[in-house]
Amino acid sequence: MDLRAEIMKTKFTINNLKSRYIDIVYQLHGERASSVRVVELGSGKTSDYKISDGGNRLICYETDSIGSVELEFLHDHKVEVRIVSIYNRKSRLDFLNLSEWDCVDKESFDKNRLEVIESSKNLRPYLQWFVTWKCNYKCNYCWQEVTEEVYRSERHNTEKVEAWASAFNKINPIELYFTGGEPTLYKDITKLISMINEGINLSMTTNFAGSFRLDKWFDEVPVDRMGNVCASVHPTQIKDVNAFFDKVLRYTDHYGSERFQLEMVNHPMNTAIIPEQTLRDFCERHNIRLAIDQYTSVFDDEDPDQDGTDRALYDNIIRVENISNLDFPSLSSKAVHSEEPLPITSEESRLPVFCPAGSLRVNIDALGDAYTCMSAVDRSKLFGNYSLPHYKPLGNILDGTFERLNEPVICWEKFRCSACDYQRVGKHWRKMDDGFDKQLPICG
Ligand code: SF4
Ligand code: SF4
Repeated sequence: MDLRAEIMKTKFTINNLKSRYIDIVYQLHGERASSVRVVELGSGKTSDYKISDGGNRLICYETDSIGSVELEFLHDHKVEVRIVSIYNRKSRLDFLNLSEWDCVDKESFDKNRLEVIESSKNLRPYLQWFVTWKCNYKCNYCWQEVTEEVYRSERHNTEKVEAWASAFNKINPIELYFTGGEPTLYKDITKLISMINEGINLSMTTNFAGSFRLDKWFDEVPVDRMGNVCASVHPTQIKDVNAFFDKVLRYTDHYGSERFQLEMVNHPMNTAIIPEQTLRDFCERHNIRLAIDQYTSVFDDEDPDQDGTDRALYDNIIRVENISNLDFPSLSSKAVHSEEPLPITSEESRLPVFCPAGSLRVNIDALGDAYTCMSAVDRSKLFGNYSLPHYKPLGNILDGTFERLNEPVICWEKFRCSACDYQRVGKHWRKMDDGFDKQLPICG
């Protein structure tokens, strides 16, 4: 087949640009994952996106043009890409330009949006800080291990403790929660704790391994300073189980057990080493709270009931290489345009809500970048520059560019986000529109 005969480019022109954000809803057929290229005519700016199959999905192109823009959309000739629709957002958070859809009830939309703003606007935020993405353990059920190509390659947190303390004190959250990776791998964690203003509640999840140095804690962290400290028990990684339990008792002797908790995932490999009952007995004897987490595979082939990640799709997305400048034009063919209506859904959990993530709950990564929610951290790491706008950093808390959002995000993906911060934000959710019944396209 002479591919050159197929060299065609699909062009779109958008006049009267309302914002730089252009949502392109597509369907991919023929491969689990592939890539597309958007070329901006005039400036020649080129952006490649990884795309995946599974119904309506979307990418958001961000133009630098003002007024109008002409775009070319290219894809690999071996796959079929249908452009379902194209929307120019009114503003960054106006996903799919929903506020202007005919089928969205404007009154309900505005009322519900304002209710979320009102209910969360004067509240101090909850901060979740991924102190470092590194870990001294390698648990096979760890979600960060699953995306290790993305997380483990990140730079380690070596920022000065004074910079972190000043940034957190300035934001003045109601709670600062340390997690990771393993937070105690940040060598100044105890010093940092001593520098955080007293009105900020502190809590932590740790694996309580060697980097949690008890003597240093006893010297530098006063008895009542920490709120809940949750030590997660990972039997496959613990070299000496008895020494681990001794360490727990030394900690609780010093700090008391009221604000200390043990937690274990009941993965078969864990319970083969420390049976659930052994842990229960230990905790009961020493008046320590215990949480046993049900083992849930992040991949749906390991646990089909959990709505987890499709492993083949995940592998494909990781593997897709962006097509090089040299071979791309010769492999492009026209994208098919379709105007298929969005599917109707009666499942409440799949309908979009206004969520105060990014305002009431903010997630900070090991480099100080702030994100709307846990899901955003994950997507942003996976899709980098090309993640959807509300998944991108809200600025950086160390360089002063961070600002809390002052309006809610529209979220339609909470049903598939195992890390949704619902405990903190769920009670503030409002439906996007009380009568809306469509399944919106998902990303990535
Ligand atoms: S200790 Fe926690 S962060 Fe570290 S590998 Fe295990 S589950 Fe992952
Ligand atoms: S995943 Fe959860 S916390 Fe994040 S935006 Fe959606 S509803 Fe909010």
